[in-house]
Amino acid sequence: MLTIFKNLISMIRNLINGDEYISDRSKITYSLYFMSFMHISYALLFMFCESAFLALYNLLAFLIVQILIRVAANKHLFTAATLSAVEILAFSVVSTLALGNSMNFNLFCFSIIPMVFYVSSTIKDFKKHSYFSLLFSLLSLATYAATIVIRTKNAPITNFPYDNILLISIIEIANSIIIVGMITIFLFLFTWEMKNNTATLEKRNQQLLQFANVDPLTKLPNRRCMMQTLNLAMHELSRGTSVFSIILGDIDNFKKINDNYGHDMGDKVLLTVAHTISSQLRECDAVCRWGGEEILILIRGNAESATAIAERIRLNIATTEVVHNNNAVRVSMTFGVTQAEIGYRIEQIIQSADNRMYYGKQHGKNQVVSQNH
Ligand code: GH3
Ligand code: MG
Ligand code: MG
Repeated sequence: MLTIFKNLISMIRNLINGDEYISDRSKITYSLYFMSFMHISYALLFMFCESAFLALYNLLAFLIVQILIRVAANKHLFTAATLSAVEILAFSVVSTLALGNSMNFNLFCFSIIPMVFYVSSTIKDFKKHSYFSLLFSLLSLATYAATIVIRTKNAPITNFPYDNILLISIIEIANSIIIVGMITIFLFLFTWEMKNNTATLEKRNQQLLQFANVDPLTKLPNRRCMMQTLNLAMHELSRGTSVFSIILGDIDNFKKINDNYGHDMGDKVLLTVAHTISSQLRECDAVCRWGGEEILILIRGNAESATAIAERIRLNIATTEVVHNNNAVRVSMTFGVTQAEIGYRIEQIIQSADNRMYYGKQHGKNQVVSQNH
């Protein structure tokens, strides 16, 4: 009993912190533990009041709840939750009819409404039973109304010390606490789970966005992401608000580096190149990993300034040594530069930069080409 209580407290604390995942089975099982506790308490109370019928009824209800705990343990969650809702309704009806005076037992009907909405919206088993919560809401209302009608027409059916005002008040208050408690707990759980789910979704969205736009090795934006930037730049160019140029760079003899020093060295070279290029650019420029060992740079400026920047980058790379596993290599890159012009598509501008780079590859590599030949 103490362990159950401790587990429950730690679960609630973790839930509040947002780092607890409560399994669907636990949700139902803890609700059933609570119902067991409630029925045992009532059985003792009615025994004390010498109301044998209600004492026996609560003992029977306790046993039924134990069976439902087994049903939940066997993963029949829908059955367990449906029957627990029915069980609470039955408890409400029997207690109200038996005692004549409601003592708020009739309000138990309504306590199941937040519970059924909670389970039907958060427990996987229930998602396909969307009618469930609505049906039980109507059922609880109908049960409440029917009980009131029957109760006023019939005399109480069990003995109870009706003259003991204190006892009646205590039961009334205890019932109110349990009913409000049940409503509060399920609404609380509902709100917290929604909050946690939203936070998880936002995190996943961020990760997906990162996954869709960033190259995992170099952490540079990928081609897809760069295309959006390029299209935006084309739009600005057509409106006459800015000028830009493209630099397309390709690592020279990269295959040899992989072949001679291994793929890891190749990756390290790519990382170093990416870092060197990024560090040479201004905030307004953009760089991406265009393909295998190709880097595409967008420079907010004309061909002259882009060529100067490409030359600076080329020199920086050519003088940087990449060390991996006691091996050191020097790499170089060949660049093609083209200024974007109105009337051309972005693909044509990139193709022009590619042609110039290709010319550089054919004429000794490690150079910047910014004119057609
Ligand atoms: P060139 O100077 O003409 O550009 O010759 P190259 O060897 O650089 O060009 P080639 O296209 O023949 O080879 C490119 C190589 O780049 C082949 C491919 O295995 C390698 N590569 C592509 N992506 C990666 C990567 O992410 N990591 C590593 N290590 N290698 C890569
Ligand atoms: Mg290459
Ligand atoms: Mg290449």
